[in-house]
Amino acid sequence: MKLKLFNTLTREKEEFIPLMEEESFKWKRDFVGIYSCWPTVYYIPHIGNLRASFTADLIRNTLKYFWYPVKAVMNITDVWHLVSDADDWEDKLEKWAKRDWISARDVAKKYEKIFRDGLKDMNIEEFDVMPRATEHIQEQINLVKLLEDKWYTYEVPWDWIYMDTSKVEDYWKLMGPNYKKRLEDLRAWERVDMKGKKNPTDFALWKFSMEKWKRDMEWDSPWWVWFPGWHIECSAMSSKYLGEQFDIHHWWADHITIHHPNEIAQAECGFWKKPWVKYWLHNEFLQVDWGKMSKSLGNFYSLEDIKAKWYSPLDLRYFYFKAQYWNFQNFTWDALEQSKNERNGLIKKIANIQANQEKGNWENWKETFEEALADNINTPKLLSALHTAVSKWWIDAIEAIKELDEKILKIWLFDSVEESPIEIPAEIIALADERKQAKADKNYALADELRWKIQEAWWVIKDNKDWYELLRA
Ligand SMILES: [Zn+2]
Repeated sequence: MKLKLFNTLTREKEEFIPLMEEESFKWKRDFVGIYSCWPTVYYIPHIGNLRASFTADLIRNTLKYFWYPVKAVMNITDVWHLVSDADDWEDKLEKWAKRDWISARDVAKKYEKIFRDGLKDMNIEEFDVMPRATEHIQEQINLVKLLEDKWYTYEVPWDWIYMDTSKVEDYWKLMGPNYKKRLEDLRAWERVDMKGKKNPTDFALWKFSMEKWKRDMEWDSPWWVWFPGWHIECSAMSSKYLGEQFDIHHWWADHITIHHPNEIAQAECGFWKKPWVKYWLHNEFLQVDWGKMSKSLGNFYSLEDIKAKWYSPLDLRYFYFKAQYWNFQNFTWDALEQSKNERNGLIKKIANIQANQEKGNWENWKETFEEALADNINTPKLLSALHTAVSKWWIDAIEAIKELDEKILKIWLFDSVEESPIEIPAEIIALADERKQAKADKNYALADELRWKIQEAWWVIKDNKDWYELLRA
């Protein structure tokens, strides 16, 4: 079966033919290279960020399912970045560092650990290479040097080195229909401040470090003490590990208009090879309650929030499968509850099927699953096929489901249902004991009052014949 992927570069669902199968690469390449941009490690990742890591994992696992030898790289951005060139250059890493009285590097280390622990919880295996931007400064300097040697750069003295995008003939190629929006944004911004740029699309390759803004993180370069612009690390690191041309580049859809065209410009002009990347895959945002996730609205959820409400990270993993990666997905607590129930339902049914060993009409479920995956990784279709397979109660489906769970789903359908681990807090037990005593003393007013106290703390007390039972409200 042929795997098809939607390539943002051509705006078409294309048959996936890796470089290693192309005549000119045949003897030079023995892997399929995938690069995913980054988590920026200065905050706790929210469930929207996790959807991007989940997608990176899904793309990698799908390629492996189709037997491709994969080399997957995920960047760790442990250096501060401006959000755009119009940014006020406030350094988030340094800001948090000052707040917590630690160095910017320690802030990055702390959040990198939280990020990696989250991956583990979600059954996302480590990627083959997870390079840190701060450990690849030389590679970034080298690439800027290549661009400088080929006259693609210009300097605003003591301030910036820019990439001259007017010299990149196909700068707009990834943007497709989005370029109009980009132009409008640029025009609006152009009126405000060009910061010495020749063209509004030009972008910073690096910034000189000013004495007055002495930073924790800055490096010597052939030019001056500096720190990198926010695009250069991706082009430099992906090409170090995957070659000057590689197969798949993936990350958020909102990078289609700025970050990714800039990455392409840097690499294709620096290395003088085209295309730098053959397939561009983009995943869409996760919304919460049909809107943007934001701290001010109080709907900014992390994995810890999910676990605090007694959900397994694998319930969240199941939830992500319910939307295809290139579509928006909407998170609500009800939707997560439904995902949990569906996952537990599958686990119970599979256990029953195995117990009953009922034979049925032979149907090639492996092929059905593969078909869904081959269709631009259509996970809603995949889940629906899985539910159909399970609803037929036939043991024939089990092998294919097992393989699917091991290689793609990783939601552990063959484990027993995890009942929410309920730890009853000591103070609740104390209240319940006190109430039991009050009842024994026939002090029913006090007993009622204690029952209310327990309920206010979201617990329910049920009386048995000679003891009590505590349940979550
Ligand atoms: Zn990138």
